[in-house]
Parts: sequence; C-alpha cells; structure tokens
Amino acid sequence: MTLSRSILAVAFVAVAQHALVQQVRAQDVSMPELDAILAHPKVVNMLDDIKADDERTFAEQKRITEIPAPPFKEKARAEYYQKRMQELGLKDVSIDAEGNVLALRKGSGGGPKLVVSAHLDTVFPEGTDVTVKDKDGAIVAPGIGDDSRGLAALLSLIKAMNENQIATVGDILFVGTVGEEELGNLRGVKALFRDHTDIDGFISIDGLGITRVVNQATGSHRYEFIFKGPGGHSFQEFGLPSATHAMGRAIAKIAELQPPSDPKTTFTVGTVTGGTSVNAIAAEARMAVDMRSNSTDELLKLEARLLELVKEAVADENARWKSDKMSVEAKMIGDRPAGIVPMDSPIVKATQRAVSAVTKGPRPTFAGSSTDSNIAMSLGIPAVTIGGGGEGGNWHSRNEWYKPTNAWYGPQNALLTVLMLTGLDGVTKPALPLRKAAK
Ligand SMILES: [Zn+2]
Repeated sequence: MTLSRSILAVAFVAVAQHALVQQVRAQDVSMPELDAILAHPKVVNMLDDIKADDERTFAEQKRITEIPAPPFKEKARAEYYQKRMQELGLKDVSIDAEGNVLALRKGSGGGPKLVVSAHLDTVFPEGTDVTVKDKDGAIVAPGIGDDSRGLAALLSLIKAMNENQIATVGDILFVGTVGEEELGNLRGVKALFRDHTDIDGFISIDGLGITRVVNQATGSHRYEFIFKGPGGHSFQEFGLPSATHAMGRAIAKIAELQPPSDPKTTFTVGTVTGGTSVNAIAAEARMAVDMRSNSTDELLKLEARLLELVKEAVADENARWKSDKMSVEAKMIGDRPAGIVPMDSPIVKATQRAVSAVTKGPRPTFAGSSTDSNIAMSLGIPAVTIGGGGEGGNWHSRNEWYKPTNAWYGPQNALLTVLMLTGLDGVTKPALPLRKAAK
C-alpha cells in the first residue's frame, strides 16, 4: 500500500487560527460618526436617490444576469462592468491580470483604503440559459441574486456617491471579483491581496437580506482521491484488489464521522466515478470530498481523521486480498481559510449601526459563511460580507429566484457603512484604522 505523500503534507499546511463560532445577535453599540453622517444634507439626499434608483438598479441586476459569467470565464461580464463603472464617473478603472475589475475612488487623503466588492462569477457552466423570467411573482434566473444583486447594488452606491459629489477621507477601491464560487477558490481576492498590500478593510456585497452579516469565514478543504489498482477480468482475475471496493470502504468509514455541530463542521463525499465495465475489477476510482468548518482547528482535525480513514480503507482492501497493489493519491482541490472578525472591530460595529439605521429596527445577526471575505479575514484584515437587498432562494440552481422587496436597503446600508469607515470629509473621521504593518 502506498499513500501519496501529498496527503500527509497537506494535513499540516493550514495555519492554526482559532475561529470562535456562534451566531451572535448584535448588541446596541455606539458609533457617534453615524449621527453626524445621517444629519448631513448630502447623505439625506443620497439615501433618497438610492431609493429612487431602485427600479433602474433592478433592471441593471437583470442585465448583468444575462451576461454569462461561468467559472474562469467572467471576461464578458467584467468588460461590461468596467464600462458601467466608467459611465458612472469613475476615472481610474482597469481589469487586472487575474480578471478582477478595479476602480479607485480617491479620498481627500491620509485615510484608510477600503475595498467594496461583489463577485462577477456564477457557478453555472457555459451554455446555461441565463434568460431572466417572471415566475409566480418573482424573477427567476441562474445567478439573479448571487451575485448579480451585489454587483447592481455596488453600481447604485457608486452612482449616488458620484452624483452627490461625496468626498470621503479614505480611498475606496471598488472591485468586481472573479473566482468566488467553487473551484475558483477565491482566486480573484487572493490576487487582489497579493497585488495590493495597502488594503485596510474589505466589504463584500454578497447575499440579499441586510440583517444577516458575515463576520466569520467558513474554511473549507476539498480533496480528490484517486484509488488505483491492477484491474482485471472479474472472473479470470478474481482475487485482485478493486479500486471501487477500496473507495466503497473509504466512503463507509467517512460516513460515520461525527464532527461537532458547534463550531459547525461538515463533510460530504460529493461525487464518485470509476470502473470501466460491469465485468472488470476496477483499476481506478475517484471521489471528491468537501470539508468545512468555521474553526480552523476543527477543520484540520476532521481533515486529519478523514485522510487516516482513506488510508485504512486502502489497507483493508489490500489485506482482504493479501495484496499490496492498491494505492490512493490525494489531491487538494480546494483551500479556503477560516477566520473571524471580532464583534468590537470598527467594521462590525459600523455595519451593525448602518443596518439598524436603514431598517429602523431589526439588528443584524452575525454568522459564518464562505465568501470573498475569507481571504481578508484569514490575513487579519477587518472584513464583512453584507447583503445587497431583496429576498430570494434556490441558490446555485437554475431556478434561483429573486424579489426586490425593500431592495434599496442593500445599497443604503453599504453607503452608511462605507461613510462611517472611510470618513465623510469635513464631517467625520474614518472609523477604520490604518493597518500599521502594511504602511
Ligand atoms: Zn455569492
């Protein structure tokens, strides 16, 4: 039995980083900056403008949805997004080598640099029908909410800020990111933080309702396991170990794993393939496994145990046939780090205050998820993922639906959060501190 070295190596790679994980109902926090911001006539105007812009924003959301953006093929949508940012008055707009659309909106100087982003990519492969349809009082289309809503909300925010000639103290880097979903593995934000070491805070607009805020990054590790054996005729060569049998043993063991529910830690054998014919001992079988946790410690524990079980399954299959011909190779195909932004962090407090100001009531719930914010959080950069407004469901399915219920809450919430963090020039100081290490 040989177990690929890569299995053992990767098990120890991830950084030990503890993520406290529970859903936290926000307490009232003071954020004096907000009162001054809310009282400013330009801000009052902007909030009204965003509401008045609701219908156009919804039309924009549908327009974006109908430009396909499969994983690794976001170019057409990126080019459209770049054009729209330019039309809305942003001067410094470009597409970087990874495919992200970047637009810098300079502040008056001396403040932090805040990224405000939404993701361009969808989970849907090339050729998917992305036509927007009306159905039972809702709009149905693949990606209509995730993340076309975030992209449209971001444009509405930019429009309101530019038309009202708002000057912030800090710089804002507006970004349409690539590779947020699935095998994209957050490649867009990974490139962003590699190329820009001066980012002090990060906001992703992803998801809909504004009362759910993500301040914890659900980490995930994904593997493809490739079981390999000699293969042979099912009758003549009976007695050889089988790749599908070895994989079956592994799945049976994995299925019994019992990770903790808090911090939420999960696993699944997502896909299996293998064998060539009903009357052949399988020479090869493959399975893809997804593991997730809001805690890096728990993710690493689960991963180490699962890798051990796969190894045991191969040993069992070899022992059954007194062979040493069965082996398995483990390839890591996904790695998203976990992390947490504390509740007393200015970015969390600002979001909390903004949400309450917009809804005039319900305070947000803070939770963990896997979003573009994972990378910032894992780097210790303050980050939150906030909703773009509206309601919807059937994520990642062709029947994804969306209703623009109070949809303007999304960009309004983003606006207030951004102004608190970057500072309204001449009115408030930025609440987001500069990161010393990066300067
Ligand atoms: Zn998304």
